[in-house]
Amino acid sequence: MEIKTIVEDTKNFIMNLSVSGKKIGIALLLLVFVITGVYLFMDDGMTVLLIDDVPVALVEGEGQVEKAINLAKQEITKQKEITISGHNSKLTYDRDTVNKDDKPLSVEELSIILQDKLDWQIDCWIINVDKKPVLYMASEEDAQCALEEIQKYYLPEGEGEKTTIESVEIKEKVEFIEGKGSLNNIKDKKSAVEIIAKGFEEIVKYEVQQGDSLWTIAHANNMTVSRLEEINPQLEGIMLKPGQQLNLVEEKPLLNVMLTLACTKEEEVPYKTIYENDSSLWRGQQRTKQDGVKGSREVAYRITKVNDTELSKETIWEKIIEKPVDKIVRRGTKTMMASRGDGGSGELGWPTRNSITSYYGRRHGGFHTGIDIAGKTGTAVHAAEKGVVIQAGWRGGYGNCIDIDHGNGRSTRYAHLNKIGVSVGQKVNRGDVIGQVGSTGNSTGPHLHFEVRINGAHKNPLRYLER
Ligand SMILES: [Zn+2]
Repeated sequence: MEIKTIVEDTKNFIMNLSVSGKKIGIALLLLVFVITGVYLFMDDGMTVLLIDDVPVALVEGEGQVEKAINLAKQEITKQKEITISGHNSKLTYDRDTVNKDDKPLSVEELSIILQDKLDWQIDCWIINVDKKPVLYMASEEDAQCALEEIQKYYLPEGEGEKTTIESVEIKEKVEFIEGKGSLNNIKDKKSAVEIIAKGFEEIVKYEVQQGDSLWTIAHANNMTVSRLEEINPQLEGIMLKPGQQLNLVEEKPLLNVMLTLACTKEEEVPYKTIYENDSSLWRGQQRTKQDGVKGSREVAYRITKVNDTELSKETIWEKIIEKPVDKIVRRGTKTMMASRGDGGSGELGWPTRNSITSYYGRRHGGFHTGIDIAGKTGTAVHAAEKGVVIQAGWRGGYGNCIDIDHGNGRSTRYAHLNKIGVSVGQKVNRGDVIGQVGSTGNSTGPHLHFEVRINGAHKNPLRYLER
């Protein structure tokens, strides 16, 4: 009842009347006041409605509430196509707190509030898992549908895969029974499937191990640190100690769906690598003779799984679509041999590639026992051949010096190094970086002094180095 509007309308009506009609207008206005006054005076049925002890609305009387409940029931039934048997809420009334100036709700307004606030009980279907009610569904059809969906929920979704279900078995005993439940607890098909799959969170105990931190524990259990702290309030302000008990949260699916699937898909076939011996290459050297090419095949697997966990996977059949091409690698077998004269045998690799600034032989009235190869400080020095490091350190005028024994009485020496990168006893391969060019010991500038020794006697390195 909009009293104010009526008064307002009446006033406007009077203003629009001619002077002679104004008296009638004033009389009308008075009449409105009288009616309103009588109405307010008679309305002592006004009361506050409480639902489960919470004040919800000012109503004109208990009879209005009954009407609103029936209207709400009709609305819900129409919208959701369900049968309401009643409601489970406690309704009480309080007349003492009514403020006479407040306006009570209409039946329509009240019914909208009741649709939301009352704990409506409906006829529904209950899904029991091992005799425990876990889900409430509006119809048997919905319940059946959710159970069919959950069986498909765990199917793999690979591209180009064809999957057929060979068998499905739910390990738990599942049954639907007719019953009553709260409208608020009714799940639709989609959220029912989610609930079955995600399950409920279960608190499990964990004993803190040496080296654990909140982060490592949370990470290992798919939780956040803040969630871990939330369920372990006892941890606040203390350090983790081995042996301490913590609460962890585990998701436990409501159902264990055991699936046997036949799955057909196209797959790559890896190529094999075949090695061939090649006496024209040094031992340790490799050359690719033919590149490998992956093939493809169609293959059918039988997969058994429980929910998302794969238990077994066997190949039922396969069909090669394209054969892979083997990769062929030539592997060197040539080893160091004795010198064959002045022309250079090509047996040793160059420790560093640059011009020779001083040759082997007589020099300034003395004898130069190796060759000097130009190079900037820091340039890499490589092992001339496979061998074992027998000296790595300071050696008088040689400065930082490395000797490598290549077997059969043969060794090489690398001197004036800036840095040594190997240690005595270490095995090296031909070409390995063993140090850096420098100017240590008796040296006038950065260069590599390189020697070849046969049974301890220095030889002209150029007779052994590859050309
Ligand atoms: Zn030298």
